[in-house]
Amino acid sequence: MISPGSTIGVLGGGQLGRMLGHAAQTLGYRVHVYEPAGPCPAGAVANKEVNSSYENIETLSAFARECAVVTYEFENIPSAPLDAIAPLVPLHPRASVLHICQNRQREKAWLRANGFPHVRYAEALDGEIAGAVEAVGMPCVVKTADFGYDGKGQMKIASVDELEKARAIFRSRRCVVERWVDFSSEISVIVARSTTGEARAFPIAENIHTRHILDFSIVPAGVSGTVTRDAELLAVAIAEKIGLVGLLAVEMFVTTGGEVLVNELAPRPHNSGHWSIDGCETSQFEQHVRAVCGLPLGPVGIREPTVMVNILGDSWQWRDGQVVGDPNWAAILGEPRAKLHLYGKAEPRPGRKMGHFTVRDRSIEVALNRARELKAKL
Ligand code: AMP
Repeated sequence: MISPGSTIGVLGGGQLGRMLGHAAQTLGYRVHVYEPAGPCPAGAVANKEVNSSYENIETLSAFARECAVVTYEFENIPSAPLDAIAPLVPLHPRASVLHICQNRQREKAWLRANGFPHVRYAEALDGEIAGAVEAVGMPCVVKTADFGYDGKGQMKIASVDELEKARAIFRSRRCVVERWVDFSSEISVIVARSTTGEARAFPIAENIHTRHILDFSIVPAGVSGTVTRDAELLAVAIAEKIGLVGLLAVEMFVTTGGEVLVNELAPRPHNSGHWSIDGCETSQFEQHVRAVCGLPLGPVGIREPTVMVNILGDSWQWRDGQVVGDPNWAAILGEPRAKLHLYGKAEPRPGRKMGHFTVRDRSIEVALNRARELKAKL
């Protein structure tokens, strides 16, 4: 067990690292943050912030030597630096887990090889997608294998015209082509697994995306008992098979036929788990700390039905591409059943995640209605 008082190193300095830092410090840990881009949201709450590139092995190794354990909040970290620090300090989740999850081709091939239900797909290794589109059929969606998130690097194809456009856009990029899923809902299960092998899934979140970005997470999810059981078992089985230590978010589609299909894996705290800070007995961030430090995992009962709403840079007041005013914070702060979380990012940009708020109530319908009203007032 890595005891409170020890130092946890976090690679990546965004909001996930910031909220992880809050949780770690509450348990008495010290937090060091490594972020290439400069002063960052996680660094602002850390005991130490190091700004240097991941490829600077000397600086990264010195960072690792000061930590009792290193984890990450960001998936696009190159493999070589992680291999370089692996002999120096425990790294959780281990580099091989990240290697699978940071590339859609590897992730899907891993799901297929291990018999986990996933969306029908074909690979387009040479950037020529026509063959893959023919294999899965239209409508489908083409996604770049690397560096895709929040719908970036994706395009839906439903006609020959769109296929021609997509062929030009994705030429010479490694891609996967997925069959378009007729889903009745999107859900995610965040599962924690500790160094001792203890595993526990958080209650399922139902996720509503707008323009490919998470908009609302709703807990409890409006899915059947069978779907709940299937999804939780699936997430825990994936965590065990992949050899997880830490957190894994498993995003899934529930098809109109009631089938549960894995869409994506993320080996880190996840946006769809932010509700847990206010709505769950243990937050995903505290659970992550417990898991990577080998502490007993915390209970995951729902305190009260909870809705989480993302706050994007779009909520600022804009004129001619310039910010001319803040969102209406008073609307959220004046609502006793709402909690506001802001990430301390200096510059709002359209589509950029700046914060979130949660609304709790005894009934999920009431909480969702109030959350929608507050979002409209922002
Ligand atoms: P992703 O980056 O793969 O999580 O995709 C972002 C969002 O796009 C998902 O949450 C879905 O709303 C939508 N999407 C992605 N892939 C598919 C698919 N194969 N069928 C239907 N919707 C999809």
